[in-house]
Amino acid sequence: MKALIRVENVKTIFGDNIVHNGLNLSIQEGEIYGLLGPSGCGKTTLMREMVLLQEFSGGSIEVLGKKIENITENEAQKLKQSWGVLFQFGALFSSLTVAENIALPLVEYTSLSKEMIADIVRFKINLVGLKADDAKLYPSEISGGMKKKAGLARALAMDPKLLFLDEPTSGLDPISAREFDKLILELREMLGLTIVMVSHDLASIYDTMDRVAIIDNKKIVYEGELAGVHTANSEFVRAFFKERDE
Ligand code: ATP
Repeated sequence: MKALIRVENVKTIFGDNIVHNGLNLSIQEGEIYGLLGPSGCGKTTLMREMVLLQEFSGGSIEVLGKKIENITENEAQKLKQSWGVLFQFGALFSSLTVAENIALPLVEYTSLSKEMIADIVRFKINLVGLKADDAKLYPSEISGGMKKKAGLARALAMDPKLLFLDEPTSGLDPISAREFDKLILELREMLGLTIVMVSHDLASIYDTMDRVAIIDNKKIVYEGELAGVHTANSEFVRAFFKERDE
């Protein structure tokens, strides 16, 4: 097993708000790894730090073999092309069609021909279970589940090995949410993805995650398989996983 991400003693401070006070975790190749914890504990912030969208105040984060706190602008540009990100409120451009949204990273980062990009977009649309006809629709014309799939197709546009998902099932009805979980599991198998995922959705957590890290009181209070989560000494864990136990 190879660690694709290593977080060592990471500190995050905004003004006088200490969010992370020394986080340590590592994410292995091929796993679906969950970042869990109470609202405001800094799950999204940690994910944003991993993908170079947020600076941290101390410690070290290594992603795909690079320590991101001291990489050059050039290396950062390259690294940003080797993962895909689906943010919670993420982000389809409303003035672009589904196809144009998915094509964006390819237009921005590659010099592929229009025809080649159109082929790749068709393939990705199919991959996430959208219909060919959905390509020409605008975000306002598609359902929440379809938007998530389109966002996922865009995150996969550059064939990343590493995928970051922030609350991918939030806002979806339970049937669409379970369908999305299934899609994530299938894509992990098919594409050999490593997936880092923030979620509050218990069903999704149990359906998809191999291991989790729980952030509480500025620290990691548990890292490991869900089966062992009850060993964590954390109010959040007791309350959050209670529902599942009953
Ligand atoms: P939720 O589950 O509610 O989405 P979270 O665990 O993802 O929460 P974050 O969104 O990462 O939490 O926020 C953690 C803390 O960091 C919050 O107190 C937030 O206000 C603060 N924070 C995040 N980004 C910034 C920023 N750019 N500037 C100042 N404070 C910030």
